[in-house]
Order: sequence, then C-alpha cells, then structure tokens
Amino acid sequence: MIFSEMNCLNTERIKALADSLRAAIYPDRCPLCDAAIVHNSEICPDCRKNAAFIYGERCFLCGHPADKCVCKKHKNFYEAITGPFMYTGVVKNGLAVWKFRGGLINTEFFAKLVAACVRRDFAGAELDCICFVPQTKMESDEREYNQSEELAKAVGDMLGIPVVPALKKIFETERQHKLPKFLRSGNVFGVFDCREPELTENKNILLIDDIKTSGTTLNECAKMLRLNGAIKVYCAVIAIA
Ligand SMILES: [Zn+2]
Ligand SMILES: [Zn+2]
Repeated sequence: MIFSEMNCLNTERIKALADSLRAAIYPDRCPLCDAAIVHNSEICPDCRKNAAFIYGERCFLCGHPADKCVCKKHKNFYEAITGPFMYTGVVKNGLAVWKFRGGLINTEFFAKLVAACVRRDFAGAELDCICFVPQTKMESDEREYNQSEELAKAVGDMLGIPVVPALKKIFETERQHKLPKFLRSGNVFGVFDCREPELTENKNILLIDDIKTSGTTLNECAKMLRLNGAIKVYCAVIAIA
C-alpha cells in the first residue's frame, strides 16, 4: 500500500471515530418527536410508524390523500401541490422544533423528503427554477432567516435546480395561522410582487413553502408568478393542513 493511501485510510478512521464520539456526547434526535435516536437512523421507530406520511393516491389540487380531498377539485393558480406529511401530531411538533429551536438544524431531513416528492410527482414538469415564499425585511430581521428560503436552497441542491428570489413581500401581514380561515385570503391579497420579469418569464417554477394551511399564500404567490410570465407553477411543502 502506498503512503498516501495509508494516510487516507487513517483520515477516514479518525473521522469515523470523531463522529461516534460526537454522537455519544450529543445523541442524534428524532426530527419529529425530539427523542434520542440511534446515530444516523434519521427518525425514531415510533414516528416511522405513526407520523402522518401521505401515502398512495392523492389529490394534487389540495395535496390531501385522494379519499380525504378537501378542495372539491377547486382550481388554483398552481398546477399541483405535493409534500410528504399531513400537518398534524408529531409533524407539527417537528416543524415547531425546526423553526423555533436550534436554527433550522433539521433542514436536510425535511428537504430530502420534499425533494423525493418532487422527483416522484413532478417528474415531467421540466422545472427551470425554484422560488420560495418571501418575508418582509421586518419578518426576516425578527427571525434571522426565512425557513422557506433555507428549505428551497436545500431542495435545489438535491435536485440540481437553481433557486431564484423571484418574489418579494411588499406589505407586513398578520401571520396566516393566527387568523380565522375567512380572513386569510384578504390578509395576503396583493402583498406579493415579482422582482425582475426575466426571473419568471417562460419558466416552469417550483414554489416552496414550509406548510400549506388554507393554501391562500401559495395561491397568491403562484398568481403573481403567472402574471409575470411563468408558464406553470408547481408547489411543494413539508406539511399540508
Ligand atoms: Zn420520533
Ligand atoms: Zn383536493
């Protein structure tokens, strides 16, 4: 064995040892329920079994399982929506931990699942770029990051699709989940706009957000993308309410 190969082997062993030591001191945690888990196992056995994964046939207009469609085939400005989870139980907990504790440490876990849904459901969509639901400057300053943008960047890396900040939010709004359903559409009406038209014109766009609740935010963003020349808009989120 030549010397450089031996060096390489040693480096690999040292890395593996450092990794196990780190795991012994700071055990991996389940990204959904936060329980300690076996190193590199991604998710705990309980969540693998019980988390609200969306399996099988689904309604692409609302994203729900086909037998639990809530949209009555109501059309949106986006073509279709996909995502790995329903927004309930431990998934709600996992998203709260992701967003509000520890600076988005589980982004890669969620991004992998979202990217897998996009590969599976939008295989023929010929996506040109990825956009994300934007925040106002005040919102980004308050939280120090935009979780939709961070998710979009991670999904973009995994799918090899460029992320472009095509949308901007021009007015402050109440948080959608704090409002009753009948006020949500008005709350986001006219609050988004597009930056330069060349970012959207003649593009098939994947629009990313963390959660779809009523769908009005995604629909309003998709409307602006379409008004600014996008051919088709497809949506992907982590969880669907
Ligand atoms: Zn768990
Ligand atoms: Zn539906």
